[in-house]
Amino acid sequence: MKFFDFHHHKKNISYGIYNLEYSEGLPEFPYSIGIHPQDIQSESVESQFNWLNSNITQNCFAIGECGLDGLISIEQKIQEQVFKKHIEISNEFKKPLIIHCVRKFYEVISFRKIATQAMIIHGFNKKQSIADDLLKNKFYLSFGKPVLYNLSLQNVLKTTPLDKIFLETDNEDFNIEELYAKVSELKGISLEKLNQQILENLETIQHG
Ligand SMILES: [Zn+2]
Repeated sequence: MKFFDFHHHKKNISYGIYNLEYSEGLPEFPYSIGIHPQDIQSESVESQFNWLNSNITQNCFAIGECGLDGLISIEQKIQEQVFKKHIEISNEFKKPLIIHCVRKFYEVISFRKIATQAMIIHGFNKKQSIADDLLKNKFYLSFGKPVLYNLSLQNVLKTTPLDKIFLETDNEDFNIEELYAKVSELKGISLEKLNQQILENLETIQHG
């Protein structure tokens, strides 16, 4: 069985969504393209968006990762302008949006109303109340390695509806199959069923 890796940075994985590095050439497999908050270059943000806009091809699965990060030095206002622009591109090209969010969940949620496409918080690793707020606002949650050992995150995952879940390796070095096995155990469903559900979720977010 093949297991879809929703968000990763590894060129050797072709079954999943590869997150393109800024100004990198396009791969042969599905990718997401965006400007990570920490890669924002305030003086040349226009050329960054030119790069983004001109590389949205057939293989482009999603826009992102993009979002808001409360722990970096880039001014909040600039981060919000850049994030908003990503949402507009996602709307225009009808591509889902993969979101990086650190300590700015309230702000990210406030942008939900202008988005017409699915919004997925990648690397979700926060408490239940934040998950509840996000789910109430129709976000999807993509979970990674911490699910293997973080008990409170396991409980969050248990209460997250199956049709709102994705699984990813991100930057972590481990086999995605381990994560699928853990989630199938936590959810009390077979690996086949979980795999099928993830594929259905992928289908759903591609159609708004
Ligand atoms: Zn990432």
